[in-house]
Amino acid sequence: MNLLQTQNKYSNWLEIDLVNLSNNYKVLKKYLTSGTQIALIVKANAYGHGVNEVVGTAVKQGISFFGVATIQEAVELREKFPSIKILVLDANFPSDAPVIVEYNLTPLIYSLEMLDALYEAAKQFNKSINVHIKIDTGMGRVGVWHTEAVDFILRAIHYGKIKVEGLCSHFSMAESDFSYSLQQWEAFSEIIDRAKQFGVMFRYYHISNSAGTFLSGLPYFNFVRTGIMSYGIMPRKNLLNTWGLKPVMSWRSKVIYCKDVKVGRYIGYGCTYRVGSDTKIATIPIGYADGYMRSLSNKGVVLIKGKRYPVVGRVAMDHMMVDVGHYADLAVGDEVTLIGSQGNERISSEELSELAGTIPYEITCNAGKRTERTFLRSVQ
Ligand SMILES: *Cc1c(COP(=O)(O)O)cnc(C)c1O
Repeated sequence: MNLLQTQNKYSNWLEIDLVNLSNNYKVLKKYLTSGTQIALIVKANAYGHGVNEVVGTAVKQGISFFGVATIQEAVELREKFPSIKILVLDANFPSDAPVIVEYNLTPLIYSLEMLDALYEAAKQFNKSINVHIKIDTGMGRVGVWHTEAVDFILRAIHYGKIKVEGLCSHFSMAESDFSYSLQQWEAFSEIIDRAKQFGVMFRYYHISNSAGTFLSGLPYFNFVRTGIMSYGIMPRKNLLNTWGLKPVMSWRSKVIYCKDVKVGRYIGYGCTYRVGSDTKIATIPIGYADGYMRSLSNKGVVLIKGKRYPVVGRVAMDHMMVDVGHYADLAVGDEVTLIGSQGNERISSEELSELAGTIPYEITCNAGKRTERTFLRSVQ
């Protein structure tokens, strides 16, 4: 294995398996109807996986469309990848228009002010620009409310130098509620049809995130925006991954200290855990500043030598403690797995998110905030 051996320099590290990532891109391409455009969503540093390597791996698989949240993310990505297409999900500040035009970004649009600003910038740079119109079909976030969407579309298509390349919306609960998703899907389809009645058609239509694409059973038009599942993670725990998507992120640390602790002593801030019988407590040099969520206090679980042990006491900024029972030969430096496999055991981001009372997205976005990523590139 060609895994960079940087582990020892850090008290914790992320292992990003680019082989599994490639596998997931292959699964995606195989699963989707041919001709479907894939925009891989790589916002928030590719959900914590490391955006440059994630995009680099995808480009090798022939994927050319990517989505980020912010202008800042888009500009950084453009500087590394001059020829990919970059969808910017949040670009509604008119003052950003010149950057959007200059960096050849494709923003989602939902205000005339933004169109005005883009038109001015496009004139100034003497360039034309692609945009996608974003419609709100029930998410209640950004986007033109669907009953007003046709008017908006009819105005938007008349701007010079601006080409409306796509029309899109976003599901709010495609992983859990079919009937609400269907309502959203129908509202979106209706806008597509009504625009067609005016002779207006676009190259791309899209509404599906990962759950919309893989789980909802609803048609995904000719374009999908997949994030979480391309990293091999299901949007929630207890959803079956039947496609062979493989998790890409592992997160590891090592024991920094271990001692025998007598019954009755307390562990950590706030004395929230009292040792019930003589035991061994291992300290792991990782805490909420590293992105190990404080809500995992007295709830988290880790793997050491392939066995599960509970996180006891509060997760502190830089430390957490694990009750390793009577584990005899535990030593300083022993590897601890926070996310990933060890031996026959595995802790998934999905499981950890449930223990933390959140979703896997938040787990991977936070994981390893203070550390480095190591990349597994090929298996020998
Ligand atoms: C984040 C995001 C996605 C990707 O969602 P996943 O659930 O990670 O697949 C798609 N579209 C929009 C607008 C998003 O904000």
